[in-house]
Amino acid sequence: MHDLADVRVLVYRRFAERGEPPRPEEVAAELGIGTPEALEALRALHDAHLLVLDDDRRRIVMAHPWSAVPLGFVVAGTRVKWWGGCAWDSFAIPALVGEPCLVATHCPGCGRALALDVCPDEPPTADLVAHFLVPIPRMWDDVMFACGHQALFCSEEHVGRWLRETRNPRGVILDLRTLWLLATRWYAGRLTREYRRRSPDEARALFGELGLSGPFWGGEAPEPEPAVERGLARTEPALLTRSGPAASAWKAAGAGPASDV
Ligand SMILES: [Zn+2]
Repeated sequence: MHDLADVRVLVYRRFAERGEPPRPEEVAAELGIGTPEALEALRALHDAHLLVLDDDRRRIVMAHPWSAVPLGFVVAGTRVKWWGGCAWDSFAIPALVGEPCLVATHCPGCGRALALDVCPDEPPTADLVAHFLVPIPRMWDDVMFACGHQALFCSEEHVGRWLRETRNPRGVILDLRTLWLLATRWYAGRLTREYRRRSPDEARALFGELGLSGPFWGGEAPEPEPAVERGLARTEPALLTRSGPAASAWKAAGAGPASDV
């Protein structure tokens, strides 16, 4: 007998212990089931956004926060090294495996190599920033693209440089303390059977505790400021002061308040 939780925990723990996911045949052997059953379970987990399979729906590509393919982040523990799916994911791994890790990547704005120690129990102090391009409600439209665009930068200025060069809309910028708090809290319990995905309301509540609100995070836009003198209302309700045009662009693309993360 097996249930999806057994398969999910096996995949996540294998990633944590060995740095790579099990093949479907290994899942089957481990749980004493047939490979077709294992594949069926993996596909159900994929459809539930608890892991990501390749286009053939056979090979595990990601089981957040781990990736089987390079997405720009290397996370090195004392014994195992992993591909981190993104800045958010890479910052979650030390707390999940319970040891400090070296997180290495490149600043997309200038190409400089960035490396920092990330601990399980306190946020790093490096003076870098994270930029998330894709709003949370849109993340699973193309989760590999979304993860591939949650990066660390030298500075806000280098985020701006990269946005101009790539003509991408501005997403949101986080300091490393906020990123670390988000990552460790978001993924807490991921290796246990009891873990379950947050509902949109639970996700918004967690984001809100960290001061992350507004449409980018799956919340409502702030109330427009009262019309100023002589009835001149703002044409653009201030979406997110730090996210600027991106929020509008994604909103136009249909990002609603629903959150699926
Ligand atoms: Zn840079």
